[in-house]
Amino acid sequence: MTMPACPHLDTITSIKHPQRPACYACVEIGASWVHLRTCQQCGITLCCDSSPNQHASKHARASGHPVIASAQPGERWLYCYPDDAFAEY
Ligand SMILES: [Zn+2]
Ligand SMILES: [Zn+2]
Ligand SMILES: [Zn+2]
Repeated sequence: MTMPACPHLDTITSIKHPQRPACYACVEIGASWVHLRTCQQCGITLCCDSSPNQHASKHARASGHPVIASAQPGERWLYCYPDDAFAEY
């Protein structure tokens, strides 16, 4: 698999895993989610773009934190929003 140029994925040396399997923002508003992602800059776990509220990408845009990891059991990949780049680990 060829990887697009991304200066962010290279800086990830250890993966942040979710503290608990829930989207913090959805829990606050009583919403549900499809899949979970963990921000690799601040460690917050939020919901994916298939979820109604898309909290992870909203967080990435609002905070400027570029890289998330899948928080789904068995999935081992990172994604960079600004570069639209995937990496497996
Ligand atoms: Zn990047
Ligand atoms: Zn959410
Ligand atoms: Zn963050």
